[in-house]
Amino acid sequence: MNGFKADCGHDIPALPAGYAGGSGYATWRDTGKTSCYPCTDDIARAELATAKSFLGYLSSDSRTVTTWTGGHLATVTSVHSAEVGFGYKTRRYYIRAVDASGAEWYGTGQGAGMCANMRRANSRRKAR
Ligand SMILES: [Zn+2]
Repeated sequence: MNGFKADCGHDIPALPAGYAGGSGYATWRDTGKTSCYPCTDDIARAELATAKSFLGYLSSDSRTVTTWTGGHLATVTSVHSAEVGFGYKTRRYYIRAVDASGAEWYGTGQGAGMCANMRRANSRRKAR
């Protein structure tokens, strides 16, 4: 892939041939615009302030919920798993997390390194 300037205004560097990691940029499904990973994470964190739910990823060490580009969104406060389903059983992970603003989130996911559906626990604000 050749380097180019993303819609956020930052240069996306060319990747070495055979590079197996991420592409170095994100393409927004709704607008088709591109942004570098740091901007993508900034946008995700800005949306978190008003979001009632979001799709994140449980980090491989199960300690944080991240954007799909790996940007920190919330710190996991607890995670436990349980077997669910009838016949075909599957393991589901129940996650509680708190974001940078102190808002609590809970959600379910398929485990470390997998996506997690997070929901705002309530609208209660921490008194400071
Ligand atoms: Zn950028």
